[in-house]
Amino acid sequence: GVRMRGVTKAFGQNVVLRDLDLEVAPGEKVVVIGPSGSGKTTILRTTMTLERIDAGTIEVGGRHLYHESVNGKLRPAREKHIREVRSDIGMVFQHFNLFPHMTALENIMLAPMKVHGKSRQEAQALGVELLDKVGLAHAVNQTPGQLSGGQKQRVAIARSLACEPKVMLFDEVTSALDPELVGEVLNVLRDIAEEGRTTMMLVTHEMGFAREMADRVLMFDGGQIIESGPPAEVLGSPQHERTKAFLGAVK
Ligand code: ATP
Repeated sequence: GVRMRGVTKAFGQNVVLRDLDLEVAPGEKVVVIGPSGSGKTTILRTTMTLERIDAGTIEVGGRHLYHESVNGKLRPAREKHIREVRSDIGMVFQHFNLFPHMTALENIMLAPMKVHGKSRQEAQALGVELLDKVGLAHAVNQTPGQLSGGQKQRVAIARSLACEPKVMLFDEVTSALDPELVGEVLNVLRDIAEEGRTTMMLVTHEMGFAREMADRVLMFDGGQIIESGPPAEVLGSPQHERTKAFLGAVK
């Protein structure tokens, strides 16, 4: 799981995460909603260490991400420690971020070989298996330019799965897709959720999907979680005025 305690993150004067506490249980699926610019992406990016936090602590899989315990005291962690804890986390982005000059299979093989020391044969077998899992067995040798947006996103998800992350972060992974391609990507997310092993944090505007697959929905505004609960409660009968206004606007 993921545990954030007192996390604060500012960009200049703009305080985006404000003393944020958040606990995601192992295997839990949490959907984060909230207005544009409220800091949803920043929650994921600070967990992925793409942005550093200004204050607070983040734990992933029971280990501190940005701190190390030295003689019972928490100290800022060395980069090596951060990299090691981060290896339990995978992130999928709105804009795929695939390597354009590599085939789908090569995109997936890269991290297992470079980061996890797998042999070319092992990485290849894993890549083929994962492409099959996301319904792209036929696209092994295609480059991203030859794939649709939905296919590219499924390759990106397979690439993330190749590192066997305990925690997966999904940042509006269907927002850049044509409407008819959204379903095929949501189906892959549903498969991962149903396997139940992976802790998932998703930022999404797909409310129907959130309602169906999330264990919990968090409404985020002003740098903090203002409402949290099962999807039927938060989406079905929101208590907070800002949640009501937000849901009214996205429906
Ligand atoms: P959206 O739904 O529009 O993606 P969001 O809720 O994900 O929004 P964030 O992307 O986390 O919001 O951004 C929160 C705030 O932080 C915004 O005001 C944004 O302009 C600012 N911000 C994000 N990243 C940076 C950065 N690297 N440098 C400066 N400001 C940033």
